[in-house]
Amino acid sequence: MALRYLFIDFDSFYASVEQELNPLLRGQPVAIVPTLKSDKTCCIAASYEAKAHGIKTGTSVSEARSILPNIHLIQSNSDKYVAIHKNIVKTIHDIMFVDQVLSIDEMYGRLPPKWQPPQVASLKAKEIKSALKKQIGRNITASIGIAPNRFIAKLASKIDKPNGLVLIDHENLPQALDTLELSDITGIGSQMLIRLRNSGITDIKSLCLADRSKLQRIWGSIEGDRFWYSLHGIDIPEKPTNKRTIGHSHVLPPSLRSTSGAFSTLHRMLEKACHRLRVTGYFTGHLVLQVKFGFEWRWNQEIKCGHTQDTRALSRLLNLLWESRPVMAPKPTKVAVTLTDLIHTRNYTPSLFETEEDRRQSELLRIMDDIKKNYGNRSLYYANSMMAQKSTESAPMRIAFNHIPDLNIESDVTFNNQKP
Ligand SMILES: [Mg+2]
Repeated sequence: MALRYLFIDFDSFYASVEQELNPLLRGQPVAIVPTLKSDKTCCIAASYEAKAHGIKTGTSVSEARSILPNIHLIQSNSDKYVAIHKNIVKTIHDIMFVDQVLSIDEMYGRLPPKWQPPQVASLKAKEIKSALKKQIGRNITASIGIAPNRFIAKLASKIDKPNGLVLIDHENLPQALDTLELSDITGIGSQMLIRLRNSGITDIKSLCLADRSKLQRIWGSIEGDRFWYSLHGIDIPEKPTNKRTIGHSHVLPPSLRSTSGAFSTLHRMLEKACHRLRVTGYFTGHLVLQVKFGFEWRWNQEIKCGHTQDTRALSRLLNLLWESRPVMAPKPTKVAVTLTDLIHTRNYTPSLFETEEDRRQSELLRIMDDIKKNYGNRSLYYANSMMAQKSTESAPMRIAFNHIPDLNIESDVTFNNQKP
């Protein structure tokens, strides 16, 4: 079976960026945290030196400190990580066509037939590694997996971390996967682990030995079949996905854990989400608010509307939803805004009843977006979001697994133009 995919997964990406930029951190245990002002948060990344002591993504800061009192805690800096990510993609793209960037530290390419012989594929992987070392930095390493399908290539990239290079061909399946845990496989979460265990599948070996109909029964759908084919190296087409939501969520810093702080942060996130709508060419027909009060109480409220990308119209709906919030609730600790029911501009039918006022409003939004583009995202904002905009620790740009932020839309720093 031909080696068709080359998958690249960076090793402890955020921590290694910090180590590359600050020589004093090299060889040291480092953990990246959302804020240095609170001990009640979790590590969002850890260097290999910290991982060696059991500190990993999700370890609480207080636990990390108790395991390693000398650990270097660094506040996450998304602008920096995204800028380096962009250089990385360009560096790899100069050698191999990058088919898809899956997250800030994961991407893959399809190997053309002439690169599929194992020796050639290995050479390409080594070429990528040395270009990264030269152009990005020797402390930012990647593990590369090469296999007949993307699924196995991704697993291969996890086998020999850090700085690994693993080729898995059909002949060495499934034994090549033996060192992995079931939970290392994308698509096997805690619930699926229980279902697999109940069916007598406790490790990768028994999973690979299970026949297709058994996996279909365990998954309860055709997904089980897809999984069986993937696991056996067969290259099946990806399921088509549509962009279905745009959203932001934020754990409130202590200074914004109040009714007005939550309200203002919601408005700030809504402004960002609407800006992303306009830049990416989408309209939304559904606004969802989520607020966590205290540590247990979750409140959701949603509203449908005619398709729009107008911040002011959606702000009014946000205010309407906010009025129905629980009054006796504890202090808000986390807020989220999601825009769903997205349609692309090409499928959007403007209202027959568009007024002169609507046209003026669209023009105003366009001008406001231009000002933000030129002078930074905090140069202009609606009064409702002022409290959050003025707070230096509110809603910093963050990097989700499936969305690399556009620095020009989501960062507080201006990237493409000079300040006046
Ligand atoms: Mg990684």
